[in-house]
Amino acid sequence: AELYGLERWGNDYFGLSAEGMVTAKTLNSSVALMDIVDGMTERDMKMPVLLRIENILDAQIYRLNTAFANAIEKVNYEGRYRGVYPIKVNQQAQVVEEIARFGARFSHGLEVGSKPEMIAALAMLEEPGSLIICNGYKDQEFIDLGLQAVKLGFKCFFVIETTTELPIIIERSRVLGIKPLIGVRAKMNTQVSGHWNTTSGDRSVFGLTATQLIEVVDRLKQEDMLDCLQLLHCHLGSQIPSIQEIRSGVIEACRYYTDLMKEGASLNHIDLGGGLAVDYTGARCASEQSRNYTLDEYCEDVVETLKQTLDEQNIAHPTIVTESGRATVAYSSILLFNILDTTHFEPVSLPGVSTNEPNQLKNMRAIIEYLTADRVQECYNDAHFYRHEIRELFKRGATDLRTRSVAENLFLDIMHRIISLMATLERIPPDLANLKESLADIYYGNFSLFQSLPDIWAIGQLFPIMPIHRLNERPDRQAVIADITCDCDGKIDRFIGDPEPTNTLPLHKLIEGEEYYLGVFLVGAYQETLGDLHNLFGDTNVVSVRLGNEGGFEFVKEIHGDSIADVLSYVEYNPKEMQVRYRNTAERAVREGRITARERQQMINTFNTSMQGYTYYEKES
Ligand code: PLP
Repeated sequence: AELYGLERWGNDYFGLSAEGMVTAKTLNSSVALMDIVDGMTERDMKMPVLLRIENILDAQIYRLNTAFANAIEKVNYEGRYRGVYPIKVNQQAQVVEEIARFGARFSHGLEVGSKPEMIAALAMLEEPGSLIICNGYKDQEFIDLGLQAVKLGFKCFFVIETTTELPIIIERSRVLGIKPLIGVRAKMNTQVSGHWNTTSGDRSVFGLTATQLIEVVDRLKQEDMLDCLQLLHCHLGSQIPSIQEIRSGVIEACRYYTDLMKEGASLNHIDLGGGLAVDYTGARCASEQSRNYTLDEYCEDVVETLKQTLDEQNIAHPTIVTESGRATVAYSSILLFNILDTTHFEPVSLPGVSTNEPNQLKNMRAIIEYLTADRVQECYNDAHFYRHEIRELFKRGATDLRTRSVAENLFLDIMHRIISLMATLERIPPDLANLKESLADIYYGNFSLFQSLPDIWAIGQLFPIMPIHRLNERPDRQAVIADITCDCDGKIDRFIGDPEPTNTLPLHKLIEGEEYYLGVFLVGAYQETLGDLHNLFGDTNVVSVRLGNEGGFEFVKEIHGDSIADVLSYVEYNPKEMQVRYRNTAERAVREGRITARERQQMINTFNTSMQGYTYYEKES
């Protein structure tokens, strides 16, 4: 487990059992993920499976709310904290439902950015008084929904992102006779590092400029509605790695807040958006996939900076709102998959010397004789040269497949000997620096990168990946992972390492007749909905479990992944019509005497059963 940095990125939610298995932990109990996998197998839930651990989701909401409450108490801040969960980070009903259920004790609200998300929020939140923050572009229908929510008792804020929204809000509030709650999103100048750094800055597509803010204030004043402007919204970007940047963003937000108050607004909420980062690599530093602060530090720094900056201007402390998405949901989901096969880049046993073998082969055999630590570069060059020669001869038909096979094997043999000798060298020649990785195994995993881990492909995201069992055995293979799409991008060849990412992952040799399971951790944020249907691999099976207070666990929710019929219908096929077409093709074959009627029926049965089956690789049970 040390090898995979479990302690560093696990946030106390994962551990290792005495039997060498990864466990999911809560305060009082700890369950081996393999026990959950066994339960899945008994329930016919095939791999890959997205496992959700509800307690972890609850624990993150608890930790966030208590960390803010503690910080508020510590610095004598006079306002309170209200968290909202941005639905876009994981829109799955089970996730939003659980956040709404557990979050009710903290009046944890929801952030929405579209009409469908708004409808989801209205149906999921039960607690009147909960915050609903409406970001994004809002048409009349969206605004009507929000105004009616205010009437129902929700604190539903329209955050104005463009000045065109304001006239519609004013008009609809008059027509419906409901006073709106209005927020303004300010364009932030504080530049942050990390992948999402274009959320702020002059060219950011988000928020109102200083001039537009003044326009909004003037228009509201004109309409005698300035008292409706009660929230300032500032979002710097997601996954902000540095606490210094967060502090500086809060100071800029306070400047907007103070001046809007001076303009006569009745602000009482400051919404700092998302950005609380997840330490995916466990490096605890200000690098893109990590963060140089803890949750407590984040809360204390935010609260303290707000207090200090607003006190200087004698401004009453507002309710602090944050829209933490990633940090709320990332830990609770794990993608589990089995390994289907491996490719090793190792020589098979070499045949003895044959009398008429070409000189190039003889020369390759000779390399093995003169290979020593001080001649690794020379031998590396020679082996490449002679292998190339043989490949050229093969292309021209001047040598045969067997000879080429011997050359490829000799080449691999020489490369592995070079790697062993390199361990004794003080300086590795630059040409040979990636040799070990270029000979790494390929482990074929039963999943689609594009469906389940799209950020790895899209933005080079690193997620912790490790076997969930056999951790009492030292893994003796180095591997990259390929998925089962037919796409050369469907692979994982960057892994978290200490301190730097690595290009291979240590894994165990497969044992004949036994499954080998890997887990990709911290995948609860953004992955599920961003995933796509590449090669028509559909949604995976999803299982939600709840760990018991006195040990054990319960399967609380199960969703079967997409069937083949499902994914085909997403791309506009009609499964019923397809069955009829296939039947007609088979029937014609019977008519023409190519198959029997019984064979026809077998074929139709196979076709129809497949149609209802899982899109991933299924091993016969
Ligand atoms: N709020 C807004 C307006 C966002 O655009 C985002 C995402 O970028 C979030 C909240 C969530 O951010 P995070 O997932 O970093 O908490």
